[in-house]
Amino acid sequence: MPELPEVETVARELRLVLPGLKIESLTAIYPKSFENRAAQYSLTQTISEISRQGKYLIFRLDNTFLIAHLRMTGVFSFHTGSESTGKYCRVLIRFTDHSQLQFLDTRKFGRIWHVAEISEITGQLGKDALDPYWTEKTFSTALNASRQGIKALLLGQSVISGLGNIYTDEILFASGIHPLSISATIPARKKIELFQNIHATLRFAIGQMGSTISDYRTVNGESGNFQNYFRVYAQTGKPCPQCARPIQRIRAAGRSTHYCPYCQKLSK
Ligand SMILES: [Zn+2]
Repeated sequence: MPELPEVETVARELRLVLPGLKIESLTAIYPKSFENRAAQYSLTQTISEISRQGKYLIFRLDNTFLIAHLRMTGVFSFHTGSESTGKYCRVLIRFTDHSQLQFLDTRKFGRIWHVAEISEITGQLGKDALDPYWTEKTFSTALNASRQGIKALLLGQSVISGLGNIYTDEILFASGIHPLSISATIPARKKIELFQNIHATLRFAIGQMGSTISDYRTVNGESGNFQNYFRVYAQTGKPCPQCARPIQRIRAAGRSTHYCPYCQKLSK
């Protein structure tokens, strides 16, 4: 599932092609993929800006917004001419200059919403993991306030948004923190290390255009490269890069979680 680095890569590529284009029509080929919550506004507006909050992409129009979540397998594909749509095209946006944006989604869990206010969709989200709001201090304070397991807190999106299963496993390994550690009980210097590794890992992964495991592709149809740098994610049984003992898999926060029981310390 695309996480912050993949969605940020898509946002950066859409930013190169979409601003200034005027929508001529939006067709929901698979009706559930599109929800028009602002039907009183016409969709024939100009896209002025592309931003991202957590795993959501936000397209600013003249009066309203389109918000997209790629979920498992959503991919945006931009074409300067009128391409025919393939089997997996769920939403087709045509522009007045004859270019088009296709939303492809094999599993059909992805969504695009048309809304008057961004907060209708993202109102419950915590600050984005790369938002300048986060400092060593604000991050430590947020952890101190929680008795949740650290993996659950990082995945939950209501405290900090954008992280999913892959990057959470990698960041906790880099920080030497057991995924089931109770957030508040993690030693103070480890909380700061965790904060620093969130930034370092996400920045590096964005530089690699994210991770491609199955469907994720950039707007230009390219794969990400960060999957070549996984140290624990999907490495069950392989030697830990630090101590050479086997990487193990457990359930944490309802998700398959990969970690090294020797290098990652449990606090509770
Ligand atoms: Zn280890």
